[in-house]
Amino acid sequence: RWRGRRRRASIVPRMIAEQGATAPVDVWVGLGANLGEREEALRSALQRMAEWPGTRLIAVSALYASAPVDAGGPDYLNAVAHLQTTLAPLDVLQRLQAIEQGAGRERPYRNAPRTLDLDVLLYGSEVLSTPTLTVPHPRMNERAFVLLPLADLAPGLVSQAALDAVADQRITRLPLAWVADLL
Ligand code: AMP
Repeated sequence: RWRGRRRRASIVPRMIAEQGATAPVDVWVGLGANLGEREEALRSALQRMAEWPGTRLIAVSALYASAPVDAGGPDYLNAVAHLQTTLAPLDVLQRLQAIEQGAGRERPYRNAPRTLDLDVLLYGSEVLSTPTLTVPHPRMNERAFVLLPLADLAPGLVSQAALDAVADQRITRLPLAWVADLL
């Protein structure tokens, strides 16, 4: 018997993307900066995330320096953060974009150097494809600057094969205790 509105399969990802989780979800965020005060831009982004409602900053990777991929400009500093949050995926994305904008990011052309780039890498084990948000992040497996710091925090999420596939990319792990005070 017909009961209520039929739920079309294509609507489901959008519902997940917009609804907050009831239990906290593990979220991994990729951070990068290659202009200006790079370490300070990453640090203040982490501070902002830790202040989001329903959100805890669980762990932050080491800081890495990487050569730009498909882009010009100076080296990036990169890191990955592990959050637990009840915020919905699209809410996380919008809040990351607000932080990027606050950091004065200008986008004169695709892949232009940027003060701050924040990506949702993983939102729990959700697989979402909406017009503004795709998780897992579609290019994360091509990027050493994502996979190495992610593997620091969650070795089980990154396979040796994935690491081998990016082994030719120039990246350096910086021996700095850089955000211990934020955790
Ligand atoms: P980018 O220039 O690489 O920072 O790309 C930003 C654009 O990617 C924005 O318009 C987002 O809506 C879109 N986007 C899609 N999936 C993601 C994701 N997982 N994390 C961040 N941005 C995303």
